[in-house]
Amino acid sequence: MRKSKSVKRTKPSELKKLMCQNNNLETSKWAKYAPIEGPCTEFVMVGQEVDRVLCYRCTSRSATGK
Ligand SMILES: [Zn+2]
Repeated sequence: MRKSKSVKRTKPSELKKLMCQNNNLETSKWAKYAPIEGPCTEFVMVGQEVDRVLCYRCTSRSATGK
C-alpha cells in the first residue's frame, strides 16, 4: 500500500499590517467612529486580500454607538 501523497499543506496565511481606515477620515466609511482626539493610528494584522480594516477600538465604538 502506497501512502497517499495528498497531504495538504496548509499555507500559512500571510498577514500584513494595516492601519485602521479611520486613519484617513476623508476616505473612511466609519469616520464617525474615529477617536475624538483625531485619526486612529491603530494597526491591525489582516490577510493580504484585505485593503481596509477597522480596528477593534473603532469597531467597538461603532457597536456601542459612542
Ligand atoms: Zn481605529
